[in-house]
Amino acid sequence: MANTAKIDVKSFQFEELQEMLRALGEPSYRVGQIADWLYKKRVESFENMTDLPHALRAQLAKLFTFDRLEIVRVLGSRDTTRKFLFRLADGNLIESVLIPASPALYGEKSDRRTICISTQVGCAYGCKFCASGLQGFSRNLGPNEIIDQIIAIEGASGEKIDNIVFMGMGEPLANFSNVIRAIRIINAPWALGIGARHITVSTSGLAPQIKKLADEPLQIRLAVSLHGATDEVRSQIMPINRKYNIETLLSACDYYAGRKKQRLTFEYILIAGVNDADDQAYLLARHAKKLSAKVNLIPYNTVEGLPWSRPSRNRQEEFLSILRTHKIAATLRREKGHDIDAACGQLRLQTRRNERQRLITA
Ligand code: SAH
Ligand code: SF4
Repeated sequence: MANTAKIDVKSFQFEELQEMLRALGEPSYRVGQIADWLYKKRVESFENMTDLPHALRAQLAKLFTFDRLEIVRVLGSRDTTRKFLFRLADGNLIESVLIPASPALYGEKSDRRTICISTQVGCAYGCKFCASGLQGFSRNLGPNEIIDQIIAIEGASGEKIDNIVFMGMGEPLANFSNVIRAIRIINAPWALGIGARHITVSTSGLAPQIKKLADEPLQIRLAVSLHGATDEVRSQIMPINRKYNIETLLSACDYYAGRKKQRLTFEYILIAGVNDADDQAYLLARHAKKLSAKVNLIPYNTVEGLPWSRPSRNRQEEFLSILRTHKIAATLRREKGHDIDAACGQLRLQTRRNERQRLITA
């Protein structure tokens, strides 16, 4: 985080706020009051923290920013997946997805309300199939901007979120310190209080950061976007594989699995004619078995302007059955509402394209 500009109050841990308030000569119970206003009562300005002295409210406003996300568009309806497009304070757009009852997002069915959140504006990793990658990288999100996605969606939907997946726009492990800081606040009882086991970080395979995450004490879940069971196939669609190949990635996963109590998940999007052949399924089963990992198969969501498509239903089921024959805990996402369920990054892409179109035709 930058030292020069003011930082958002929601980017700080309890102890840090405590330290700052102590320096202002405030009694120690003030931090609890402020945390309650921020995360329990959810006010939108320091001025609304009515049990704080006026002078302190003014002082806090001088010390910190206190931003909110502006909702630009919502797609979907109450009972289905809803996508939110947000505008950040600097005008950048990000998106998050609310999934009412979790459709086996990481291999488990549950009645939890899940949100899929973004960690960066765009993404630098350039996976060939991904709308976020297509848009290039703009910047990391601050911890507050990560947390604010949950606060904004709870506010707009009136629903309490109890499951978080870092599967929106961006590569979470490339924004490591802000993501960890946000996770600690999401997890903390004084803030959002969501259990670490209900927080899943998805990565395209940054091997060194996977190890670093393994050394974090929190029992957060890890999902690894494999999408290819050989280097040949994986490198074709995920440039990161040229830096950390499958062997390096799997050894980092092994390290993670050894340090955490839960199994990790391999995400595997099925793209017709690219990674859906039988030999890939056999090898995927072998990788998963070695690590006792679960596999989550996701039929590819088409992205406008990209040539890829999902395999036939039959091929998807066959791929799944090879994994199951090898006793792998595997699920296949058979979602409805394909258009809205489309992976993160697409709504932003569409909106930006429309805006550009308007500029051109104006
Ligand atoms: N950068 C991280 C997390 C964000 S992407 C990662 O790559 O894991 C979250 C998941 O969505 C990844 O598994 C990614 O491969 C997948 N994804 C991206 N575009 C997709 C698409 N068009 N259809 C289906 N899944 C997609
Ligand atoms: Fe980035 Fe993940 Fe998309 Fe790859 S799949 S471009 S890492 S967001």
